[in-house]
Amino acid sequence: MRIVLLGAPGSGKGTQSQRLVERVGIPQISTGDLLREAVARGTELGRQAKEAMDSGRLVEDSLVLGMIRERLGEPDARRGFILDGFPRNLAQAHALDRLLEALKQPLDAVVQLEVDSRELVRRIAGRRSCADCGRVFNLLTSPPSGAGAVCPKTGAPHRLMQRPDDNEATVAERLRVYDEKTRPLIDFYRARGLLQVIDAEAAVDEVTARLAQALRVPALRAPKRAAGARRGAAKRARKPAKKKAAATAKRTRASRASPKRRSTRTRRAKAPRAGAVRGARRRKSTRR
Ligand code: AMP
Repeated sequence: MRIVLLGAPGSGKGTQSQRLVERVGIPQISTGDLLREAVARGTELGRQAKEAMDSGRLVEDSLVLGMIRERLGEPDARRGFILDGFPRNLAQAHALDRLLEALKQPLDAVVQLEVDSRELVRRIAGRRSCADCGRVFNLLTSPPSGAGAVCPKTGAPHRLMQRPDDNEATVAERLRVYDEKTRPLIDFYRARGLLQVIDAEAAVDEVTARLAQALRVPALRAPKRAAGARRGAAKRARKPAKKKAAATAKRTRASRASPKRRSTRTRRAKAPRAGAVRGARRRKSTRR
């Protein structure tokens, strides 16, 4: 499955990509993450990208395209990928088209995560990521909790950091750049019949369910967990089943005791259709 996730900063592309990685098992390719890594490692690419990133502008196309070409050529991307934060303008979208055509790997879908701009600013203010494993959290909408509060890299609680470009001034510029350069991609992919728009202004789980439905990915399949956690989940899953069985038995007993309490569906199923009644009356009168 080859997917592009489109959406403004703070629309949840990173969080939803991570969830898709867990459910579909294909890599997330985030140009923002790759660029931040290059900056942190102090490479030439990172040095060239840093200024634009710090001010909220787009990094030069040639740098981003070189990085994407290299990443899509890696073996794990042959099974598919989720592009998060790329393409960001029409030139990048055309270049991606050409690249995927050469690789004979066309896109399957482009999903636009739609969120109101005031909500975007609120979400960005709460956004934190783990300095060690890079996992993205939101103090307001998806804080670390349960088994997910432990960093898989260090075994200690996540070390939460705020991105340097998540400050007020840079965020305003990033949102402006999104409207000017990235928003036109919605029409670009709509014209190609690839676009799906989902309302992403809901709880994280609900957005995942909508995304899964749009992409036809089994929504409720739990991500792979440790055996202990799986046993706990199985136990929790059995409980409602028991409750359900008890409720069904109670309903059956009640309907036997009082036929009036049959559900509407049962009543409809048992009641003869109007046409059948008329037919029966006609047959009766002919016999008379
Ligand atoms: P993100 O993590 O996707 O919000 O990206 C953070 C910053 O990295 C952006 O504000 C841009 O400066 C830069 N960046 C990320 N992806 C791209 C891209 N596809 N093209 C140009 N610049 C990008």
